[in-house]
Amino acid sequence: MEGKIQIEDKKCVLCGKCAAVCNVNAITREGKRMIYDEEKCVSCGRCVKACGFLAISYC
Ligand code: SF4
Ligand code: SF4
Repeated sequence: MEGKIQIEDKKCVLCGKCAAVCNVNAITREGKRMIYDEEKCVSCGRCVKACGFLAISYC
């Protein structure tokens, strides 16, 4: 799968599901934001599917 993801802060409710399903720990919570590390991301798409709030999309 090509491409990396982006997290829309306005839609995110900080449920943490994306971080929980990411096998490479590319998403972590920092205060009131989910921080995404593109260097670690292997574009598996698990976080995109896991987010029930459509806050994560491919870019
Ligand atoms: S799964 Fe979606 S709503 Fe939940 S923390 Fe991740 S981006 Fe935010
Ligand atoms: S696409 Fe996969 S590797 Fe990248 S942040 Fe989402 S769950 Fe982690």
